[in-house]
Amino acid sequence: MAKTTGSGPDGEVMAARIADLIVHAAANAPRSLQKRIGPSEVGDPCERRLAYKLLDWPAARDDGDPIASIIGTGFHTWMEETFTTRQAALPDGRPRYKVEERVTVRDSPVEAAVVAGSSDLYDRATGTVWDWKLVGHTTLDDYRRKGPGPQYRTQAHLYGLGQENAGEQPQRVAICFVGRYHELRVHVWTEPYNRQVALDALARLDSIKARITSSEAYSSEYGHTWWTQIPTSEQARCRFCPWFKPGSADLTAGCPGTAQPADQRHGFESLIA
Ligand code: SF4
Repeated sequence: MAKTTGSGPDGEVMAARIADLIVHAAANAPRSLQKRIGPSEVGDPCERRLAYKLLDWPAARDDGDPIASIIGTGFHTWMEETFTTRQAALPDGRPRYKVEERVTVRDSPVEAAVVAGSSDLYDRATGTVWDWKLVGHTTLDDYRRKGPGPQYRTQAHLYGLGQENAGEQPQRVAICFVGRYHELRVHVWTEPYNRQVALDALARLDSIKARITSSEAYSSEYGHTWWTQIPTSEQARCRFCPWFKPGSADLTAGCPGTAQPADQRHGFESLIA
């Protein structure tokens, strides 16, 4: 998958080995192996993608190029170290920053219903829930013009609920987009914390779960026709979807995405929410 070159045959072999090592290590990193739906996924606008994920449906393709994710992970580690180094005490003696602490958005005796994750930063001095996003500079411009989209916005409020569950009093959520560019570019989207956004997202997730575990779903044996009833979304990010299979006419093998001719062929364009 990776493009490799080298200065002569030895260099080419060495480049291929390093690329293999990077791809293998990234594919086996804890985040890549996670199966439970995390706060970053709950607000995915595409119900079909969430259904594939919840059913642990075989992916239609490899995880894709891991380099953006590796660089993003490195940036998160740098921010974690930076805020840990700048830790300060509040007047009541508590630390100002909670850095990369695991929070429980929803607890449940049923393991699959638990929603939990690591919150990038919580600033007790301002009651702000922070999330870092390292993005390409054209993507940063998109977020600046159009806002963060439903998935990131939901994620921010879910972490707000997680901090509330941990005994904090969040006032505000903020997503900080930093551009991968030759000069520093930072854009912050922020709004007041709203618990209802998080609760609505959890309710939606539960309704999707109920649908995919219904007797109707079982009796359909999850065939292509059943999958056509699971809506997609115009805001779906198909390029990053593990079940994206361009031109697919069989949804059990993969999804053609939202703008593919196969959608019209099967007459389920009206299901696109
Ligand atoms: S390919 Fe696109 S439309 Fe299909 S499940 Fe994935 S995100 Fe949804």
